[in-house]
Amino acid sequence: MYYVPDGTERCGYYECRKCGTRFLDTRIEDLLECPECGEEADDMELGPDEVPAEHEKSAVLTKVIEGAEEVELYDGLLSLAITGGNYEWL
Ligand SMILES: [Zn+2]
Repeated sequence: MYYVPDGTERCGYYECRKCGTRFLDTRIEDLLECPECGEEADDMELGPDEVPAEHEKSAVLTKVIEGAEEVELYDGLLSLAITGGNYEWL
């Protein structure tokens, strides 16, 4: 498993509103920090109206995935999407 530990039976499927990154997380919340945007936080210039990127939760919960097999399926698909560079078919 790439995103969540083996045997995870419930996780959230998130999509970042800013960069479009999709990922899984064992936390189920309406909004979560995007791992991609978070990594770039140090390099970004912040305007007066912007909050620090590290505190910004830009990833939206799209779907709750339940069942170990479902979680494994999505984990595999998203992992492939990263290495293949194309996830339009998800
Ligand atoms: Zn992002």
